[in-house]
Amino acid sequence: MNAVLVDSHCHPDRFRPRDGAPLEQVLARARARGVVGFLAVGVDLESSRAMVNLAAREHGVFAAVGVHPLQEVLPPLPEPETLADLAQSPGVVAVGETGLDHHYGTDWAEWQRENFARHLEAARLSGLPVVVHTREARRETLELLRHYAPPTGGVLHCFTETWEMARSALDLGFYLSFSGIITFRNAAALREVVARAPLDRILVETDSPYLAPVPHRGKPNEPAYVVEVAAEVARIKGLDLEEVARATCANFERLFGVQLGGSPAGPPSAPRKKEEVNP
Ligand SMILES: [Zn+2]
Ligand SMILES: [Zn+2]
Repeated sequence: MNAVLVDSHCHPDRFRPRDGAPLEQVLARARARGVVGFLAVGVDLESSRAMVNLAAREHGVFAAVGVHPLQEVLPPLPEPETLADLAQSPGVVAVGETGLDHHYGTDWAEWQRENFARHLEAARLSGLPVVVHTREARRETLELLRHYAPPTGGVLHCFTETWEMARSALDLGFYLSFSGIITFRNAAALREVVARAPLDRILVETDSPYLAPVPHRGKPNEPAYVVEVAAEVARIKGLDLEEVARATCANFERLFGVQLGGSPAGPPSAPRKKEEVNP
């Protein structure tokens, strides 16, 4: 039997599978491997609206709404109220992704900072956790989270930074989400972070269509491959895949205030209503 898993971060509007399979089929392939939940993450307002629509029609899909720190053309900064409004749509469980990326985005670091701050405000307004993208901006990210993180906390997604940063984020009540990068040969230091991170504070994700894990590296990624990510977490921690699957699903439910379907063939479970999530 397949372990029941959730892909805590993917970009369905960016999927371009090699075989040209439509989105429904890509999700079905994941379900066939035991993936019962998907967090569909918007990267700008248009993409966020598309993720809200997807969550409304696809079982097990939840949405996050936000404006990504890396943009080909910088959009106007979103108003926190606009984001918070969108976040009230059914199926939305988080604000993001947002954050700071100084690997690529140094030229518009100020825009990133203001964009991030507005999302933190929106998360506070809407009572939802925040999905944070952070790369080579450790001090600045932690500083903003320390001052403005919503009480609902959030997750540092596709975590690739140091244990020191992981420790600080955990202390702030944040979760860490690991992607296929942990399977890469040159990721020994990151595997050390996985080893040290408490099992009740980690999530697994694909960040598909980017960053396919070994043995799919170089191909377009898809949610089905979250199995390889969870298996690598299990290997690093010396646990059964089952145990990692159970923990990461429970963590997802706790952080985002939702219930996942018990099995891919099980009865549909709608996301909990806003009132229940945020009494
Ligand atoms: Zn990201
Ligand atoms: Zn992403």
